[in-house]
Amino acid sequence: MELTGLTIHELQGLLRRREVTAKQVLMAFLKRIAQVEGKIQAYMTVTGLEALRTASRLDRRRQAGENVGPLAGIPLAIKDVICTQDVPTTCSSKILDGFIPPYDATVMRRLDQAGMVLLGKTNMDEFAMGSSTENSGYKVTHNPWDLDRVPGGSSGGSAAAVTADLCAGALGSDTGGSIRQPAAFCRIVGVKPTYGRVSRYGLVAFASSLDQIGPMTKDVRDAAILLGVIAGHDACDSTSVNVPVPDYAAQLGREVTGLRIGIPKEYFIEGMDPEVETAIRAAINVLESLGAKAESISLPHTEYAVATYYLVATAEASSNLARYDAVKYGFRAREAKDLLSMYMKSRQNGFGAEVKRRIMLGTYALSAGYYDAYYLKALKVRTLIRKDFEDAFKRCEVILTPTAPTPAFRLGEKTDDPLTMYLSDIFTISANLAGIPGVCLPCGFTQAGLPIGLQLLGKPFDEATLLQVAFAYEQATEWHKRNPPL
Ligand code: GLN
Repeated sequence: MELTGLTIHELQGLLRRREVTAKQVLMAFLKRIAQVEGKIQAYMTVTGLEALRTASRLDRRRQAGENVGPLAGIPLAIKDVICTQDVPTTCSSKILDGFIPPYDATVMRRLDQAGMVLLGKTNMDEFAMGSSTENSGYKVTHNPWDLDRVPGGSSGGSAAAVTADLCAGALGSDTGGSIRQPAAFCRIVGVKPTYGRVSRYGLVAFASSLDQIGPMTKDVRDAAILLGVIAGHDACDSTSVNVPVPDYAAQLGREVTGLRIGIPKEYFIEGMDPEVETAIRAAINVLESLGAKAESISLPHTEYAVATYYLVATAEASSNLARYDAVKYGFRAREAKDLLSMYMKSRQNGFGAEVKRRIMLGTYALSAGYYDAYYLKALKVRTLIRKDFEDAFKRCEVILTPTAPTPAFRLGEKTDDPLTMYLSDIFTISANLAGIPGVCLPCGFTQAGLPIGLQLLGKPFDEATLLQVAFAYEQATEWHKRNPPL
């Protein structure tokens, strides 16, 4: 039995029954990283030594009969956009080179309290801007299913690490699809929670009205377990919402009989890969065979989602990224002669091309004379998109769509054309604009052996129903059991 191939819930059982120690589990993952990470490049930082200390401490505490928490001894990887005290946090940007946060994000504190072992920080598109992880300022992550292809993005390092058994589970962040799209490309489960469900305190801001942290895992039960740990109100984040957090894992077994699943006609568009469409249609049949009722619905403003997103997200990013002035964090250009040239040279050399493009777009959309025509209009369309979902959820409990229009594309295939890159989030962006939760899970493979993902969208704060449907589908299929040919 390979420990690294097990799910979080399987490892929990072994650890609880003391059939393995946290240290043995950790050593298995460190060995696997030594063997495989060279090919994948999922990690920015591997925190091996500190992990060893944590694991040994947990083993001693468990030995002494202490209550060590539900994740005790589970090695997790965290996207490098989440602040980790005393561990470098770069957002895969040169401008944060050398930045070591003096505090932990709230999600980190919760995971620590639950006993997790931090295995490392994962590679991503710089400041979470991108769909392929190729915008990282440091390295290119390879898709474990085909090393010539992208793992998706921006949480590509987390997705690749989970599917290649380089960690037991991971956290990502999702502003327009960055958890769900890489989950689809790497055959794993990814959850973008409702806006406000998970604290953003300590999540480095990209677009604050869209960002959410969520789990990326090997199966649905693992996602339910991690979400249960990180969700909940936090006084440190004024946008986190004080609603009860259900026991997601305990609710998984419920049946889907009679549940209404909406299929939005706007999501079956030209340009979608035929193999993706076939897999999604087959998944609908599986859910119907389990007793759910599929019905056609409409989300009429879908075609405006990408444009709306690229105004709202860039406007917020241009404001959020103003703080990188080479004084407070990380990188500072050496050749500067005075204050102004220090700002300018540091930002010029510290930010990558895509980040600079977004700062310029956002600054433009917010500038006097253009604000009403672009930013304000985008906010109005955003309201219409949200209303589309409110109307749709009068007719169904869950909406089912493809996660991405194609499977993982080739490295370099879209880097010269930002617009085609933006289109790979065409199915995921609306959920962020509307603030609703979304789950991605595997629903098939192409002839060439690339994973295909399906997306379930739900009512605000109804992650439990999404996970329930996802679990029912997963139990009826075998996709989650396939492993990449490494
Ligand atoms: N790919 C989208 C973008 O580039 C979404 C990124 C994200 O969700 N962080 O903005």
